[in-house]
Amino acid sequence: MANLNSLLRDLDAQMREDGNWGEPANYIPELARVDPAQFGITVVTADGKVFSAGDTDTLFSVQSITKVFTLAIALGRSGDQLWKRVGREPSGRAFNSIVQLEREEGRPRNPFINAGAIVTTDEVLDGRAPRDALAEIIQFIRSAAGSNEIHINEAVAASETEHGHRNFALAHFLASFNNLKSTPEMTLGTYFHHCAVEMTTTQLAHAGRFLMGVPKMSRLVSMARVRRLNALMLTCGHYDGSGDFAYRVGIPGKSGVGGGILAIVPGKASVAVWSPGLNTYGNSNKGTEALALLARKMNWSIF
Ligand code: GLN
Repeated sequence: MANLNSLLRDLDAQMREDGNWGEPANYIPELARVDPAQFGITVVTADGKVFSAGDTDTLFSVQSITKVFTLAIALGRSGDQLWKRVGREPSGRAFNSIVQLEREEGRPRNPFINAGAIVTTDEVLDGRAPRDALAEIIQFIRSAAGSNEIHINEAVAASETEHGHRNFALAHFLASFNNLKSTPEMTLGTYFHHCAVEMTTTQLAHAGRFLMGVPKMSRLVSMARVRRLNALMLTCGHYDGSGDFAYRVGIPGKSGVGGGILAIVPGKASVAVWSPGLNTYGNSNKGTEALALLARKMNWSIF
């Protein structure tokens, strides 16, 4: 993979040349102020080599990408119990849709849309103090990344709490269907805080190593669970843009409204890309673009 370095450098140059950065998420004021003209990409390969280009040392809000880690923890704590509370089907709707939750009587379609992630966080919380659940989540992410320098950005968490009317609506809806164990305030407090974890693309690509399914890279979760997490990332990781992502990129991925995407080439690589401008699905515009080009050039596809 000697050419990966130059490939990433070319990609970075191309993304910057194209301009058209798009707009960052506007519903969380702390994210809306991020300069959209940024791009970074890091690839960690199965033999532990690291390749990168662009803004790979800049911290960004990983947001929904943390849903992969909380799902891994929830499945570890309660196994298949979680699936009584959340489905495993693509939603075909926006990540924060409310209408589907009412129609389906409080059981969210999958663990990556907000309603499903709130239930997953509630499962991780499970009667504990939010600070204890958050400690476990942060510890999981730090061990996955192999770095203790991973923190929650309190200003982002506060900003989302203040403007999180939709998520409060979803949480109260869930509670009205008896699908929350803790109060909406406690569960959302935990959810907003884990979404506010910040990482660089270098840290995130390392944190994704356990999803490659290469035992000598990481044994954080079992191989069977790695496969299932990847299956959910492929089918649901980009919300109603999941089909498009599978078509264009061809590998599992999870996006966040901070503009990050974690994409996994099973057995081969963990890729983190970041650019804050979003497409209409709320997924990183240039991040998706860059992954599509990279996957094509490297001949990476699960198909
Ligand atoms: N914290 C964000 C929210 O709840 C996460 C959404 C996302 O990254 N798509 O709206």
